[in-house]
Amino acid sequence: METKTAKILDGKTLAAKVQKELAKTITEIQPKIGRPPGLAVLMVGNNPASATYVANKEKACHQVGIATFGRHFPTETSQNELEQIIEELNRDQRVDGILIQLPLPKHLDSIALLHRILPSKDADGLHPINLGHLVRGEMGMRSCTPAGVMKLLAEYKIPLAGKQAVVIGRSILVGKPMALMLLEADATVTIAHSRSQNLTTITQNADILVAAAGIPGLITAEMIKPGAVVIDVGINRITDGNGKSRLVGDIDFVSTAQVAQYITPVPGGIGPMTVAMLLQNTVCSYLKVANQQ
Ligand code: NAD
Repeated sequence: METKTAKILDGKTLAAKVQKELAKTITEIQPKIGRPPGLAVLMVGNNPASATYVANKEKACHQVGIATFGRHFPTETSQNELEQIIEELNRDQRVDGILIQLPLPKHLDSIALLHRILPSKDADGLHPINLGHLVRGEMGMRSCTPAGVMKLLAEYKIPLAGKQAVVIGRSILVGKPMALMLLEADATVTIAHSRSQNLTTITQNADILVAAAGIPGLITAEMIKPGAVVIDVGINRITDGNGKSRLVGDIDFVSTAQVAQYITPVPGGIGPMTVAMLLQNTVCSYLKVANQQ
């Protein structure tokens, strides 16, 4: 992808590098533990986007040598059935990580299910214990998407201490943990959300801007401080004028790339980094098992 000014933060290449390192670690440690790391991905219903994400995650697992214990349940599966499955996976010694693919069908209480996962197997970093560790700045499983953003910023040696960072979105999945991780890195953090007034005034102050609203084209060039680092977490499927469907982020890439210093593409930016961090969390939990032996 050609841009006039902004450099691309290449999540696809960095994710491949992380996965190569994980594969090497697994090859070295597996003889000691006597089994590969294991990740269980639970999917309920037939959301096509979720099915694609699950397939990508499982493919990446196979590439690095993580065994998958994926389970696909019909839409009508009950809360009780899922709770029992999670309890089984919590006890299963072949499983180091458990992930519930969100969103779930409306009759299910996803928060209650997330609470059931053992914090040490919480590969998505969404259990309140792990979110609590993040708030306190302690070690713990970190949410994959914001962890992927932090890893990408670190790879390109982008300074964060003392910088103005703006996060758009306040979800538990992305916005809130993202803001906490930037705070942990000593940035001055503002969170904007659906009720924020004058979004442009807020974003124009950002040295680092992370957009995670899920609204295509929400951010345009005039909202960007010249020279800013712009991270697009959004993944939105749109249909263009020719009737063709494609994925775009929350940021108008073409105009913003004229103003920003660094920018992430969609696809090929934070998406692959999220998968790489999921694998990393699973391997971290596996290595803890090795250290206990
Ligand atoms: P969400 O719907 O739970 O949260 C969206 C947030 O955006 C909310 O906090 C809301 O307050 C805020 N928002 C909505 N409209 C806004 C507006 N006009 N101005 C400012 N803020 C506004 O979504 P989510 O789960 O946090 O995901 C956000 C986006 O990131 C989606 O596009 C999702 O597909 C994508 N996502 C990508 C990855 C990845 O791997 N790259 C991972 C998770 C989510």
